[in-house]
Parts: sequence; C-alpha cells; structure tokens
Amino acid sequence: MDEIKFNVQVSNDTPHYTVTICKEQKRLTASCTCESGGLDTLCKHRLSILAGKAKWVISNNTAEVKRVLSWAASTGVGDAIVRMVRAQKRLKDTEQELIKATHNREEAEQEAITSRQELIQALSASTE
Ligand SMILES: [Zn+2]
Repeated sequence: MDEIKFNVQVSNDTPHYTVTICKEQKRLTASCTCESGGLDTLCKHRLSILAGKAKWVISNNTAEVKRVLSWAASTGVGDAIVRMVRAQKRLKDTEQELIKATHNREEAEQEAITSRQELIQALSASTE
C-alpha cells in the first residue's frame, strides 16, 4: 500500500486539514480531516489534489501531487474526475445562459407590452 499525506489550507483565514491519498493495487482512496471529508461527499481539498492541483498544499511535498495524478490516471479515478469537472463547467455555463435568457425574456415581455399599448394608442388616434 502506498500512501501520501498533504496538509492543505485554502486561505489564511481558514483552518488547515490533512488529505490522505492511498493506493492499493488498482484501488485509490482519499480522505480528509475537514467536516465534509467523509466518503459520501467529495470535499474541495481532496478533489483539488486528485485533479493534480497543488495550490492549497502547505506541506513541503507539493511535488507528490504529480504522483497522485499518475495514480488517478492508472485507476480510472482520473477519467471520472475529468468527466465531473467537464460536467460542472457545462452546468455553470448553462446557468449563465439561463440567467441571460431569463433577462432577454423579461426584455421581450416588456417590449411586447409597450408595443401593444402603442398600437392601441395608434388605433384610437387614427379613428378621430
Ligand atoms: Zn476536505
């Protein structure tokens, strides 16, 4: 069994946690000491390291993140992360489009109301 521990801290005003990545043959596990570090949720600390990012690592083994990345690639975890990150980006983009579309709809609605009023006015003006 191979194991690497990283101390991570997102910013100076947040506590630091320990992320532990274990590889046992084709099985990769990741745990974290933060409050959402259980198995059923995937905290940002673990996700960041599994995705090969060392930006939050405060222990002096940032180079080891590359090793985790190769573990992820050899176990199928890497592909799953790529898919998830892609899906999350798509969700974010779609939410932005939705906000824009909602705004456009409101504008179109207002334009429809205004132009209808203008038409009614034009009709009544033309009968005199
Ligand atoms: Zn965590």
